[in-house]
Amino acid sequence: MGAERRKPVWRRVAWGGACAAALAALVLSSACSSFGQWSRSPQEQAQVQASPQWHDGQFNNPQPMWSDMKRALWRAFDSEPGQSPAGPVPVLRSQGEALAVAPASGLRVTWFGHSSTLLEIDGQRVLLDPIWSERPSPVSWAGPKRWFAPPIPLDKLPAIDAVLVSHDHYDHLDRATVMALQARGARFIVPLGIGGHLRGWGVPNERIVELDWWQSTAVGTLQVTATPARHASGRINPQADHTLWSGFALVGPQHRVWYSGDTGLFDEMNDIGARLGPFDLTLIESGQYDADWPDWHLGPEQAVLAHQRVRGQLMMPVHWGLFALAHHGWTEPVERVLAAAACQHVSVLTPQPGQSVEPQQRASASRWWPAQPWHTAAERPVIATKRGDAAQRVELPRCS
Ligand SMILES: [Zn+2]
Repeated sequence: MGAERRKPVWRRVAWGGACAAALAALVLSSACSSFGQWSRSPQEQAQVQASPQWHDGQFNNPQPMWSDMKRALWRAFDSEPGQSPAGPVPVLRSQGEALAVAPASGLRVTWFGHSSTLLEIDGQRVLLDPIWSERPSPVSWAGPKRWFAPPIPLDKLPAIDAVLVSHDHYDHLDRATVMALQARGARFIVPLGIGGHLRGWGVPNERIVELDWWQSTAVGTLQVTATPARHASGRINPQADHTLWSGFALVGPQHRVWYSGDTGLFDEMNDIGARLGPFDLTLIESGQYDADWPDWHLGPEQAVLAHQRVRGQLMMPVHWGLFALAHHGWTEPVERVLAAAACQHVSVLTPQPGQSVEPQQRASASRWWPAQPWHTAAERPVIATKRGDAAQRVELPRCS
């Protein structure tokens, strides 16, 4: 469905030169604090180095990641038809009125696009990877731009009990949003090493909890556990891997929710389900995938498989619907999740951006996005390697 548009070599070279110049200008003109924390105290470094995930001077995945970087770089400036919306995205805008009353079922989710989500669970309000900025970028004037303004102004959100950040890539750890939430007295729960960024931006140490994989902390009656993920970290260098990445399991007296963070597929997802599941609701990254780097993100079919591995009951695809960060149509993630989920008999929740939904009421399985062409799993498969060897791939369940 649709051929990729290829740019001639001279345009790629020109683009490369322009990007190098833009990067140099960016480094010269921008405040370093936007980029993140460059140094740690000896105590912080000792805490990070004590992690089983830390060796050879960085954090590591137990399962190495494979990518065809040469091909990915060559394709970097290709554009895909329908990669961004042609018209306005139908967003439910409000001043947060629906959030003034507690959810009757004890579990309610409000999605703001990409992974940015408010979760109300068993009396606690938790924000996941909140981004209210215009772009997931170190500077305000360059980088992919969001397709719609935040559905609810940040200052109209009710009091938040904890802000959870899965890793330090710009589309998940947004400095301006952190600063605004910090001014409101927010408490942050983050994987190891990310506290360095937050402290560098003025968040008091006593409002930061840093977790290694499988470590937990309490938010009221809610137990928050950092769960393993297969990904990377870093701000200017997205593969620097000096801070940890994770998902989060939220286990309350009545409900359980799992958020994948950013991750490729890995076998130990079964352990997450066995130790902390089953989950009433899973929020699983399903967009921004590519066959040239299939271990970095799940892609739609593997997102459904991840949901099954962690023993989820209802799946909500996230990491789509706000930014174009990969070469696929903007509606393709949700279309492919629905196709794979139908095949595997998995129930999917697809709330409109800004809509508050109680999963038990299932009010919103609506198709609020436009119908446009997309590539199927058979046309554009995204399949993880088992252990970083391109010849050894995961086997996906077939549709019977
Ligand atoms: Zn990421």
